[in-house]
Amino acid sequence: MEREGLLDLGNRKGKAPGAYCSEFSVRQRPFIFANSVGVRDDVRTVLHESGHAFHVFEMNHLPYIQHQQIPMEFAEVASMTMELLAAPYLSKEFGGFYTNPEAARDRVEHLERIILFWPYMATVDAFQQWAHTRPEGADPDACDAKWLELQRRFMPGMDWNGLEAEMMTGWQRKQHIHRSPFYYVEYGLAQLGAVQVWRNALHDQAASLARYRQALARGGTQSLPALFATAGARFAFDAGTLREAVELIESVIAQLED
Ligand SMILES: [Zn+2]
Repeated sequence: MEREGLLDLGNRKGKAPGAYCSEFSVRQRPFIFANSVGVRDDVRTVLHESGHAFHVFEMNHLPYIQHQQIPMEFAEVASMTMELLAAPYLSKEFGGFYTNPEAARDRVEHLERIILFWPYMATVDAFQQWAHTRPEGADPDACDAKWLELQRRFMPGMDWNGLEAEMMTGWQRKQHIHRSPFYYVEYGLAQLGAVQVWRNALHDQAASLARYRQALARGGTQSLPALFATAGARFAFDAGTLREAVELIESVIAQLED
């Protein structure tokens, strides 16, 4: 991608913010846009967008553009799984960016963020369901009160002491709520799929990678549950699947902290 000029990763004055992977359908090539400034989050961002880029490469054999329209819940499995599958290669000895202790710390923070994301996702999803289906959703004070209620329900362990105003107005700082009604739960579903593919990779990295690539190559030619199954995961969000994922993440965090 670098050789073909398909990466624009560095930040520069006047460049639009954000990071994404785009696609040139005729050339059959992905293009990654980012704003890297040399911090660890940039590594994660580029890995994430690389997952989307691999999806484009793997789907190139599909003859019709309609076959390449992937459900959002699975598109993010491609990217979030890449973040996790790359974990063994983050340290310098395997060609990566970090010393071994830095790689371990990066992985711990990544895994912690995955656990913290699910209750936050639940807050955003429940808030959207409420705000976009009830007249009170047009009242900012009612929105503050609802956000507070949902934060207490889904993230009871967070200490917001002295920052109540910031806590209540959290809904204002989430662009999805304002620009993409009902869009957010997809990330939670995709993350659970990605953790399952990674679980398989902890036992057999090569086999899990092969299934991941196979699922990417299917594009949008399978149903969502079938795409998850091809990748070696279950399309689910039940307590049992979530518990298994969280317990695995916690045990790997404990190993890395050792
Ligand atoms: Zn993405």
